[in-house]
Amino acid sequence: MAKRIPEPFRIKMVETIKQTTREYRIRAMAEAGNNPFRLRSEDVYIDLLTDSGTGAMSDKQWAGIMLGDEAYAGSRSFYNLESTVQKIFSYKYVLPTHQGRGAEQILFPALMDRRKEVKKVTNPVFISNYHFDTTAAHVELSGAQAVNAFSRIAVDTSTFHPFKGNFDLEKLENSINEYGADNVVAIIATITCNSVGGQPVSLENIKATKQIADKYDIPVVIDSARYCENAWFIKQREDTYKEWTIPDIIKEIYKYADILTMSAKKDALVNIGGLCCVKERNDIFKAIQIRCIPFEGFVTYGGLAGRDMEALAIGLEEGMSEEYLTYRIGQVKYLGDRLMEVGVPIQNPTGGHAVFVDAKRLLPHIPGEQFPAHAMANQLYIEGGIRGVEIGSLLLGRDPKTGKQKNSDFELLRLTIPRRVYTNDHMDYIVDTFVELIKDTKKIKGMTFVYEPPILRHFTAGFKYID
Ligand SMILES: *Cc1c(COP(=O)(O)O)cnc(C)c1O
Repeated sequence: MAKRIPEPFRIKMVETIKQTTREYRIRAMAEAGNNPFRLRSEDVYIDLLTDSGTGAMSDKQWAGIMLGDEAYAGSRSFYNLESTVQKIFSYKYVLPTHQGRGAEQILFPALMDRRKEVKKVTNPVFISNYHFDTTAAHVELSGAQAVNAFSRIAVDTSTFHPFKGNFDLEKLENSINEYGADNVVAIIATITCNSVGGQPVSLENIKATKQIADKYDIPVVIDSARYCENAWFIKQREDTYKEWTIPDIIKEIYKYADILTMSAKKDALVNIGGLCCVKERNDIFKAIQIRCIPFEGFVTYGGLAGRDMEALAIGLEEGMSEEYLTYRIGQVKYLGDRLMEVGVPIQNPTGGHAVFVDAKRLLPHIPGEQFPAHAMANQLYIEGGIRGVEIGSLLLGRDPKTGKQKNSDFELLRLTIPRRVYTNDHMDYIVDTFVELIKDTKKIKGMTFVYEPPILRHFTAGFKYID
């Protein structure tokens, strides 16, 4: 039996969520063009679309909101945030940004300029264990190519591995040599590795990555959205660190990098916010400060209100609580374990922030180009008012040259768990809904487009069932 880890908090305020009938949901889904992205969130009972900015803030964070100092320049809230960040990460220079992509947009072109000043750059690339989608987009916007060096084990969903987010170190070094070290603008370590299922990276792997980077004089950036969940996995799964505290593990991780970018909408427990920080290089910090002003705002607010910075400073600390992380990651695992018990195939092990249902194994009668995980997402909403999201052929899209659907290695339905929002009874309800849903999977039909936008099609497309 899956183990229940109770919530380490009690509920101080509630938000009513609407329970609807099956008929209501069938109509709502048809009106949304059979695309869960186009549903109104108030028509959703349990919303598992994303864990980004969807968490619940604590009483302390809400109190912080009232204490925010709304000054354009030099606000107390900025200095409070700055000293918190300096304490947690031991990075000297701190810039707030409106969210993670804000940090990417001011940092990457600055790194590119810096590299061109000191090296012979002809064909610039960034190398990551796996670029998150906005990260890859900003790498490309800066005029570089985004290269991934992920471990092969990450693609094998049915086999357990403790650190599926690791860099393949051989692939990393081979890529550096292939493109030429001068061309590698930065190495980006994404922790946890979102795109392969919220899978952690080991400290051993982070250290080895830094060693390789130093050998070729390449800066290391940590894409830090889920730095606390990653640290918790290190404590659980990497022997050397099992007696360490979470804050000490985090300090250790950040020793082996030069810069951090962060979407604070994940582990830092705020609804909006981000960071771009530099360990010690004043020249890099100056360059990003200069870009911050026109794009994000003055350097002491970077697109945030004083109250947002207060809530962020508190969230950064709360996110590191081991009790909270044990419950948080435990809740994700609880849902994954229970789904496996009732016969739903999932990616193993569950990551920090989501359960990925393997629709390829669940709906073998629907081929990739008829989007099995998307069909599953639609039925999940109709059956129980639950919203998940397809990660598979639909997201991957067409080959821009041939116009043909690209072949996806996996067809996953991602159930992303917001932080401190739903109870384990909600998790049980999700499992009950799946039990109903898988009674007769044969009746679930494949889907095709009635409207297909040319780029980022999954957000706004319309669909119909194939009879
Ligand atoms: C969410 C995320 C980002 C982008 O951050 P936003 O706050 O959505 O702009 C970058 N990298 C990773 C790994 C993320 O999860």
